[in-house]
Amino acid sequence: MRAMLKGIAASDGVVCGHVFRYSEPDLSITKRSITNLDHELNRFHQALEAAVSEVEMIKTRATKNLGADSAQVFSAHIAMLQDPEFIKSVEDEIARQRCNAEAALATVVTDYGASLAKLTDNPYMQERITDLHDISKRVTAHLLGIKLPDLALLDRPVIVVTHDLIPSDTVSVDAKYILGFVTDLGGRTSHSSILARSLNIPAVVGTQTATADLATDEMVIIDGTTGSVISEPTAAEIATAKQAMADRQANRVRLAKLRHHQTVTKDGIGVTLAANMGTANDIPSVLDNGAEAVGLMRTEFLYMDAERVPTEDEQFAIYRQVVSALAPRPVVIRTLDIGGDKPLPYLHQAPEANPFMGERAIRQSLAHQPLFRSQLRALIRASAYGHLRIMFPMIATLDEFRQAKAIYDDERSKLTTAQVPMGKIDVGMMVEVPAAAMLADRFAQEVDFMSIGTNDLIGYAMAADRTNQDVAYLYQPYHPAVLRLVDRIVRAGHAAGIPVAMCGEMAGDPIAVPILLGIGLDEFSMGAGSILKTRQLMGTLNVHELQSLADTVLNSTSTSQEVITMVQAAVPGINDDGTFA
Ligand code: PEP
Ligand code: MG
Repeated sequence: MRAMLKGIAASDGVVCGHVFRYSEPDLSITKRSITNLDHELNRFHQALEAAVSEVEMIKTRATKNLGADSAQVFSAHIAMLQDPEFIKSVEDEIARQRCNAEAALATVVTDYGASLAKLTDNPYMQERITDLHDISKRVTAHLLGIKLPDLALLDRPVIVVTHDLIPSDTVSVDAKYILGFVTDLGGRTSHSSILARSLNIPAVVGTQTATADLATDEMVIIDGTTGSVISEPTAAEIATAKQAMADRQANRVRLAKLRHHQTVTKDGIGVTLAANMGTANDIPSVLDNGAEAVGLMRTEFLYMDAERVPTEDEQFAIYRQVVSALAPRPVVIRTLDIGGDKPLPYLHQAPEANPFMGERAIRQSLAHQPLFRSQLRALIRASAYGHLRIMFPMIATLDEFRQAKAIYDDERSKLTTAQVPMGKIDVGMMVEVPAAAMLADRFAQEVDFMSIGTNDLIGYAMAADRTNQDVAYLYQPYHPAVLRLVDRIVRAGHAAGIPVAMCGEMAGDPIAVPILLGIGLDEFSMGAGSILKTRQLMGTLNVHELQSLADTVLNSTSTSQEVITMVQAAVPGINDDGTFA
């Protein structure tokens, strides 16, 4: 039946294609008595072999996409599937109980899991519990004759429709097979949205009902610029969508020519265009889109991806992979920013009445120092392999920055005493709390760099929750009050001789870019997919003209709409929806 869904426009572009509904199948089992033991043992062995060859295939994809380090988890899965002791336990259980293989497997996995769970002080063993459940799910699926949907096994381009997307779902995906995403849950800052923007594919999130309304193989059109999804489109709708896709592709080819160009405005002013990233998966996209730096790596996904706190060594491996793959580009890695709309279930944080004003980001790190210290050690160790810069999120007071910096200095000096190799690291802060924006001149005396987090700064300045659709009308990036805060931060940084970047969504927004250039922002960091079009836009702009535009906007506008009108008059070609023709 034809369905028209409305969700949140998460990543620009129109795409038409077939649905791949990615959801967990029902793997419930019933215990059966068996009469033919050999037959049952045979079933079990066949399922094991099928599972091993499937994991081998996933491992090959993951190695190709992400490198050998990230694919190690799949080697662990294969080793478990081939572990003679484990296999024998299941065989014995089948024989002892005279029951079907799936029931015997479930009993063995429960017993193994229970003994591993007792080793609470051994993180390695805790991790094996997750692996055990993963492999058991795979073998059970084969025994039940059910195909586990796995994005890593995609072999044709599809539109992925899913309830929500977590980083581990996408770890080994071959991006060329994903035409777009549609999810039930999520907002513009959720993992699926960030992933889609970094891969430069259209996405609509937060539709509530996509997985219920859309079925695998059904044809749909999604529009990531307006947030609409249409199933069973008419021939005319398909033709229009295909034309939009062809235009987009042609534009992409044009933009690709800018990949190795420096970012320079029409009047010859150099600007740094940097990428935001979430996981090591984003490395290819950062490189393909010609980023000159990484202005923000959000480390939350690394923690949200796991079922427990990642160890220092696990973090080190990922940070090292990122900084070395992107060297000599500077890479800003932000310490953990959980809380707000990004809770970490395994930390069991008490529910807060107002999480965006609660114990999130640096507040959480300072209150739970072992976690913070292990992240800092992993970062300091990774600094030997590239150009790493560390950034603290949600700093509100000077005292918070000083405390965080003192903990960093302490860990650094311990590692220096232990003769651990490390590089020079700049330590900076996000300016995303209005109090810090107002006092940016004082912060600028103590930090190495500042990066403006407009996603939060707008929300806090306008007192409008960034995830609440009912107050979305107040979430106004171009509001003169917001722009004055931004201007204040940039001027404070420059007066102290330090660079000022922006890593909120606004940095890649075509209406904001001319004003920000006029204000004098040094670095613009955005989803990798926006870099080339921003480079193109900047090449058409004269900073000297934009300085007077910024002046007028800052001093004589009172509403967001006035600002938009003024930018559109100054820079023809910028549309109402923020696109640039
Ligand atoms: C921001 O607040 O602008 C930002 C970049 O951080 P996040 O979206 O992760 O809160
Ligand atoms: Mg923020």
